Amino acid sequence: MNIRYLALAFLFSAGLLAAACSDDDASPQAPDAPIIEDRGTAELTWWGQAMFTLVATDGTRIVFDPYSEIGYQVPTAEELAADVMTVSHEHPDHNNVALAGNATVLRGLADGDWVHFDETFGDTRIFSIESFHDRSNGAERGLNTIFVIETGGLRIAHLGDFGELELTADQLDDLGAIDVLLIPVGGVFTIDAAGATAIVEQIGPRMVIPMHYATPSLSIGLEAVDAFLEGKNARELGSSTVGFDVDALPAPGSAEIWVLDPAGV
Ligand SMILES: [Zn+2]
Repeated sequence: MNIRYLALAFLFSAGLLAAACSDDDASPQAPDAPIIEDRGTAELTWWGQAMFTLVATDGTRIVFDPYSEIGYQVPTAEELAADVMTVSHEHPDHNNVALAGNATVLRGLADGDWVHFDETFGDTRIFSIESFHDRSNGAERGLNTIFVIETGGLRIAHLGDFGELELTADQLDDLGAIDVLLIPVGGVFTIDAAGATAIVEQIGPRMVIPMHYATPSLSIGLEAVDAFLEGKNARELGSSTVGFDVDALPAPGSAEIWVLDPAGV
């Protein structure tokens, strides 16, 4: 694993912990502390739209929903250096598998049906859940796949282009207790601010990272993130990357919203 990224993850994590705990006497990590390989930290980078890199706690690099040309700067396969790439559905802002390099590609759909995954890479488990791109059982925009990652005690869900009005009991059961929820909020082709708010309430995650919404770079007409953030516990990180310290997460159900800046600009 790249030591520079480890250092970044460690520092981001320490900074967030300090910000989150400013009222108690936990002292933040000293900036000149030795860099140790912290197995309890995962690192997430948002590229824009539904594309993320997750560096799991065991170093496995997972890239979700790689976009093609949609206004953002498309990173190279070498930059991404993915071990695993997931594709929620076959729309061009989600399935640019030309960026996979040597990664194992998990396409959630094939031949108009779901493909079911439950695989382990190193100490990281990745499994899929069936869902729809719309609120009419796929009649308008087809099928979609949710991917769930289990790594180092963290459970992270990427909803892809989720479009349903509500999650079914089976979907909720499969999702389980989600720590970090990556959820589309920009409407038009997916759930919008109100729809995403309802889904967050159903899942009750510790943290929410909104995705798939309008930004200055995006050439697809979506709604901005503002409506989703209104009246909620949201924090703009001013960064594309965030580290999760599994020992210092917000409480289950608190649904703290962390807003990232897209790296692909
Ligand atoms: Zn789509």
